[in-house]
Amino acid sequence: MKTANKKVTAERLVKDALEKAKHFADYNIFTFLDEEGALARAREIDARIAKGEKVGRLAGVPYALKDNFLSPRGETTAAAHILGGFVSPITATSVEKIEAEGAIMIGRVNMDAFAHGSSTENSYYGPTLNSHDRERVAGGSSGGSAVAVALDIVEFALGTDTGGSIRQPAAFNGIYGFKPTYGTVSRYGVVAMASSTDCISFMAQTPDDIDLLMSIASGQDPKDMTTLPDYYNDSKVKKVKKIGVVTDFDNDSIDIEIRKALKKKCELLKSKGYEIVELSMPSLKYALNAYYVIVPAEVASNLSRYDGIRYGFRSEKSEVLNDLYKHTRDEGFMPENKRRIMVGNFVLSSGFYDAYFLQAAKVRTLIVNEYAKAFEQCDFILMPISPNPPFKLGEKVDDPVAMYMEDMMSVSTNLAGIPGLAVPAGETTNGLPIGLQLVGPRRSDKSLIEFSKELN
Ligand code: GLN
Repeated sequence: MKTANKKVTAERLVKDALEKAKHFADYNIFTFLDEEGALARAREIDARIAKGEKVGRLAGVPYALKDNFLSPRGETTAAAHILGGFVSPITATSVEKIEAEGAIMIGRVNMDAFAHGSSTENSYYGPTLNSHDRERVAGGSSGGSAVAVALDIVEFALGTDTGGSIRQPAAFNGIYGFKPTYGTVSRYGVVAMASSTDCISFMAQTPDDIDLLMSIASGQDPKDMTTLPDYYNDSKVKKVKKIGVVTDFDNDSIDIEIRKALKKKCELLKSKGYEIVELSMPSLKYALNAYYVIVPAEVASNLSRYDGIRYGFRSEKSEVLNDLYKHTRDEGFMPENKRRIMVGNFVLSSGFYDAYFLQAAKVRTLIVNEYAKAFEQCDFILMPISPNPPFKLGEKVDDPVAMYMEDMMSVSTNLAGIPGLAVPAGETTNGLPIGLQLVGPRRSDKSLIEFSKELN
């Protein structure tokens, strides 16, 4: 991480980042650029450096913030119209922690509205373009975060991963993206999608940067009762011998170039003396089905607070209270948000709860157990993140099921609460990035990040 010092000022670092952000404006990455705020903060840090005062481990490092993190700087809209005009009175704990180390937010970045999606096309602000091919999607939902890092505008970005939203866009843009063990980083001050699978973390260019950021952001937060005591900084890096590969995904559903990339990395690991263990994990096939029941159920609950009274946008059309809710929600949510609210309420309704939500919850337990068993046979698992390389803009956005299918490899780790790291793994013959993920048992986060260097 390039931090500010007496020779390279924070102001210079921030100015460069802002210039690059403007240069790449047509990629539609930023929903808000905070030039004034970022420069003021940079000058403060430079003044402290000049006085010889102690500055943090991220002094003057510009970063991009996914638009679902609360901070009073700029509107927090989660790329949804219904939050338009909402300025948060509070700051997310993760943001507080990295800013206490001197990092400087240059702006907020685009995403699928409320983080629902796999392409950043479900944004009220329109899609972000892929860093390698402007006709293709950035991935999602943290598409803006990934492209901001991949185009080297900023050194790191904050994102959220509920079912793959850090790892998949990282893979689609050729960078590292980490989803930690559930509860490692506080969710306080982040717009909730599905509270039982939401994870906060980072995208960056190197495993060392991810490690540094995780060492800053991890730890218990009295404002988020699901956070774990800081095991991250106390972890010993474990000795890795065996890497698992899952044999259950049928060959037709995974792109041949991704399969080849996986094979190549396995060969590399073998040549370095690691043992490759084949794993049968039959429940993983059902992860997607379980995810698209459990997550909409939680989404429906979490989105019920947006009613036109408390936050952001309010429809002008209404004269009576009930209509105000109805019109606000109708005009304010994106179609994908509405779809999930409807599915979520359906699977939770008294007539269908047993048939859907309860069954999905049972599948979730099977997946948790299956991963636990797998990690008795190997240290980490290496697998694809998505079945396809970045697809064309507009290709799947009108076909929700096709879009959901893109998540089939990423959601199981969220249901199980275990860590997954997106690692760049070469390119397709037409130059599109390929990413693979390393998956580990709960609390193996630090070792997983360290081990990823072996894939180079
Ligand atoms: N693509 C997945 C979904 O649409 C994951 C989203 C996320 O992780 N926020 O639910």
